[in-house]
Amino acid sequence: MSLLKPNTKTPFHIDFEWWKQNERDWHIFLRSLLCPEHQEAFSNVDEGQTIDWVDAETAEVKPVDGIQNTLMSHCALQPDFVSERTAMVEAVFRTFLVNGNSPMSAEDLSKRLHRPAETILRTLTGPRIYRGLRPYQASMPEPIAEAQD
Ligand SMILES: [Zn+2]
Repeated sequence: MSLLKPNTKTPFHIDFEWWKQNERDWHIFLRSLLCPEHQEAFSNVDEGQTIDWVDAETAEVKPVDGIQNTLMSHCALQPDFVSERTAMVEAVFRTFLVNGNSPMSAEDLSKRLHRPAETILRTLTGPRIYRGLRPYQASMPEPIAEAQD
């Protein structure tokens, strides 16, 4: 575990695993970010289930796997998902949803959000981890293909 203090170039991301383990209401919050159309589509659906979703533009029926994917592939891409009026930590969180949760540093976020990188960094490194926003550890070994013989 690195003890290096994060700086404005340290990449962050939404650590969904951490968030899911540490906040019981994470799915309620994710749901609340869905666009009205998808809120309705998912209103009777449990977490992690696939639903049939009718594309409003093409009238095509598509299977959609779960709220998180729908949110990131559709709802987060709607205009005004992140606006100038969005509170900063919330704007940071939403920006990761918009960009597919690619790691971004406080400097990257500063360019996107037009807010000072130092302020963003201070928010991200505060005493309370907000919705799984944590430093991205690229050096972490992937827990796959470990138990194969
Ligand atoms: Zn949507």
